[in-house]
Amino acid sequence: METFDVAIVGGGPAGSSCAAFCAHAGLQTIVLEREKFPREKVCGDCLNPACWPVLERLDLAQHVRALPHAKLDFVEFIAVGGRRVIVDLPSGNECEFAVKRSVFDDLLLKRAGELGAHIYEETTVTALTNSHGWTVETSSGERFVARTLVGADGRNSTVARLCNLLPRPERERIALQSHLPLPSNFGNSAVLQFLPNGYSGLAPVNDQELNVCLVAKPREIEALKAWATKRFGVSPNHAWRTITPLTRDALSPAHENLLFIGDAARVVEPFTGEGIYYALRSGELAAQPGTRFCLVAATWIVLRSRSTN
Ligand SMILES: Cc1cc2nc3c(=O)[nH]c(=O)nc-3n(C[C@H](O)[C@H](O)[C@H](O)COP(=O)(O)OP(=O)(O)OC[C@H]3O[C@@H](n4cnc5c(N)ncnc54)[C@H](O)[C@@H]3O)c2cc1C
Repeated sequence: METFDVAIVGGGPAGSSCAAFCAHAGLQTIVLEREKFPREKVCGDCLNPACWPVLERLDLAQHVRALPHAKLDFVEFIAVGGRRVIVDLPSGNECEFAVKRSVFDDLLLKRAGELGAHIYEETTVTALTNSHGWTVETSSGERFVARTLVGADGRNSTVARLCNLLPRPERERIALQSHLPLPSNFGNSAVLQFLPNGYSGLAPVNDQELNVCLVAKPREIEALKAWATKRFGVSPNHAWRTITPLTRDALSPAHENLLFIGDAARVVEPFTGEGIYYALRSGELAAQPGTRFCLVAATWIVLRSRSTN
């Protein structure tokens, strides 16, 4: 069986970024992704301007700009009582940009493949063994062997759970998300509205669709959904995508032969619109020779202390 240098579980922005930089550095890299891309994801679809330098280093910025998208000129905050605060967003090549995760994530994963990473979609990781390297097992019974494992499998990370590192889930808030027809005259803004039951985030993602996110405690989510149903004229039976938890304790990102990146390592409040940046950048950092050197050194120290104890 071929031994890979790096096995990355999850092909979202964190996993794809890490895979692209690892493959570019000449490492034998494999990505194991549960879904078949393109796929949607519960997200506000907004790229924080901090993403652009990482996308430039991936040689992807122009390709991202060519995807169907909306440029966001300002963000509008609406308080429960209706007061509004408008904040300008950067313009030009540094702009805040909204793009559906289906097309954005697909582009990133393809880039990792172009740079030489081996991509396995519809491949769910279900078991791990760590003995002289990692053996990664999938739901279809396939096995892959790698020297280093990277958990890039999101907030409910299977890798963290299988390694007994996933913090106990709290009974936390829920997010719902959907793409709805863009109301006429919506304008080029993101709108973050506080409501008695939670909050909503809206952003156009192209010239036809509006991303709608709703965040509330479980007991409030039906009331918030009813607000959105009325506000946007959608059917009460509309199928919303859903995810939970929205916050949880962070994991230590570096372990023996094991790294966590993106949401698998640390989840940030959706309201900030920064999670994709942290995913891209932590993927890049994990692939840097310094990080890999530290990992090799840490492993050597652990192995040595085991052999001398
Ligand atoms: C409501 C909401 C709104 C948000 N809005 C924004 C926003 O506007 N801007 C922003 O920057 N961030 C936003 N975020 C955060 C952002 O969505 C995440 O931070 C980002 O998706 C993290 O990327 P990731 O690659 O770490 O994980 P993910 O994007 O979750 O990717 C993980 C991948 O791992 C795969 N996977 C999971 N388990 C397995 C397994 N066992 N085997 C194989 N593959 C597996 C999944 O299929 C998935 O493709 C929002 C989050 C929420 C909840």
